[in-house]
Amino acid sequence: MSTAPEGKTAEVAVIGGGPAGLVSAIALAAAGVDTLLIAPPAEDDHRTTALLAGSVTALATLGVWDACLPHAAPLVSIRLIDDTRRLLRAPEVTFAAAEIGLDTFGHNIENRHLIAALQGRAAQLNISRVAAPALAVASDHAGATVTLDDGLARVRLVVGADGQHSLCRAAAGIGTNRYAYPQNALTLNLRHGRPHQAAATEFHTEHGPFTLVPLPDRRSSLVCVLDPETAQDLNAMTGPALAEEIERRAHSLLGRMSVEPGRGLFPLTAESADSAARARIALVGEAAHVLPPIGAQGLNLGLRDGATIAEIVADVRRRNLDVGAPEVLARYNAQRRADVMSRTVAVDMLNRSLLTGFIPAQAMRGLSLYLVDRIDPLRRALMREGVAPTMSQPRLMRGEMV
Ligand SMILES: Cc1cc2nc3c(=O)[nH]c(=O)nc-3n(C[C@H](O)[C@H](O)[C@H](O)COP(=O)(O)OP(=O)(O)OC[C@H]3O[C@@H](n4cnc5c(N)ncnc54)[C@H](O)[C@@H]3O)c2cc1C
Repeated sequence: MSTAPEGKTAEVAVIGGGPAGLVSAIALAAAGVDTLLIAPPAEDDHRTTALLAGSVTALATLGVWDACLPHAAPLVSIRLIDDTRRLLRAPEVTFAAAEIGLDTFGHNIENRHLIAALQGRAAQLNISRVAAPALAVASDHAGATVTLDDGLARVRLVVGADGQHSLCRAAAGIGTNRYAYPQNALTLNLRHGRPHQAAATEFHTEHGPFTLVPLPDRRSSLVCVLDPETAQDLNAMTGPALAEEIERRAHSLLGRMSVEPGRGLFPLTAESADSAARARIALVGEAAHVLPPIGAQGLNLGLRDGATIAEIVADVRRRNLDVGAPEVLARYNAQRRADVMSRTVAVDMLNRSLLTGFIPAQAMRGLSLYLVDRIDPLRRALMREGVAPTMSQPRLMRGEMV
């Protein structure tokens, strides 16, 4: 392929060093693909990620999981509790990993530890890195050129992992469908008096879910979805006042609480790219899809994106073909579409069913959860699909190298 004047060359450039970009770069490099990672230093992220079983398997296969494990807490059960004060309330439902033959549904880990583990593995694999943002991307029939602040990089394929406001997506001319919910998520981590017993608890309120997810020791992460004003009010509280308010909202389930430093406030949006790939650019993670933080789907989808593009690139290379060719991008788009669409629709429906004041919709939600609670095969099928989607299990998620 042609070399950019005074520039860098690689087969694939991954743009963005969040978790989706780092996993993509590691999977590509582990498959022997000459990979350039273009990623400015990571910003502070106090959130946590519930990594479902397939994601944990992929990280273990890529040699990342050992560094995550000391910081991760297993999730052996998930409780859904209707905490609305409505007439038609849903029954409490508990999902247990043992019911589907698993020890855990997955593990919850602070993003800073996940990122550190991924960066450590990327360094071991000697992935070349530009620690500054990409300024522009342009594609032509033979390759793509990435403009950097000190020159150009020429590659066959760009993996756009540059998040919600993706430069790569714009460069590929891919539009999005975006919806802004009237909700904000307040995130923080807590220490508490009672053990969580490896159980995540999701209280469903009229304003959205209030979810406590285990961290190691007597600690949990909280994602509290509220209307924007209440979220601002809570965020403005002192640590002790906020801890008391959270304990009240958690019905003292985990005893006395104290709030750790580092809070986040996130407007809730859903956004889907019209296509996952075009013009030598394949989108992964939030560059391709943004979901509200319900049911721990967002990054798990992003990791499946990274695993899929790495698998396709490795396969195309074995056949000595162009890894950025239109048919490669079409294959990636086709393989990701159903997984992304089904999760986006399911999370959106669940969120809207909480917000709606429409009685038949509330009744439908209550009935669905009643059936899930009562019908064991239905509950097991739902759990299996939530943890490991039948329609998209890239090799890494099955414990095989790409
Ligand atoms: C409150 C909350 C809780 C969540 N909990 C979960 C959960 O439990 N489980 C789950 O699966 N998901 C969860 N998610 C979703 C998850 O956090 C996101 O899917 C994930 O962070 C997206 O990762 P990413 O790598 O795609 O994007 P990001 O983390 O946004 O990374 C994008 C990176 O690209 C870089 N970048 C941007 N522009 C450029 C450029 N021009 N050049 C180079 N680099 C660039 C940025 O600096 C950034 O580092 C949650 C989300 C929220 C809001």
